[in-house]
Amino acid sequence: MRKSAASSRSAKRRKMRRKYRPRRVDILGKTYSITYCKSQRGVNPRNSEEECRAYIDMETNAIRVYDGGRVFGAMLGDMLHEILHAISDEMGGPLADDKYHDDLNRYATVLADVIVRNGWLRSDAS
Ligand SMILES: [Zn+2]
Repeated sequence: MRKSAASSRSAKRRKMRRKYRPRRVDILGKTYSITYCKSQRGVNPRNSEEECRAYIDMETNAIRVYDGGRVFGAMLGDMLHEILHAISDEMGGPLADDKYHDDLNRYATVLADVIVRNGWLRSDAS
């Protein structure tokens, strides 16, 4: 039996609803909201012209990340980058220093790779 266009659209909507998009994350007991942005422009609410993939505001406990239809596993490195900023802000340590920003980014990228490569996001990583 062929699916009607309406049921196909409905199945597509259901599939889109299933995309994993947590709306908050608890980091060391603080809850941060997560907002998903359609475009890289606008991710940084303080500079609407800048294009970036993720942004964290420590004053409002808000994370914004470029979605663009990516699977969650593809956003994870950007998300972990901002989470490491929050952890460094709370706990200090070398990654709190801007001169180690590239190292922070490497840790985030590698952690995301480990999580995805080991299938820990199996239903969403493909
Ligand atoms: Zn950063």
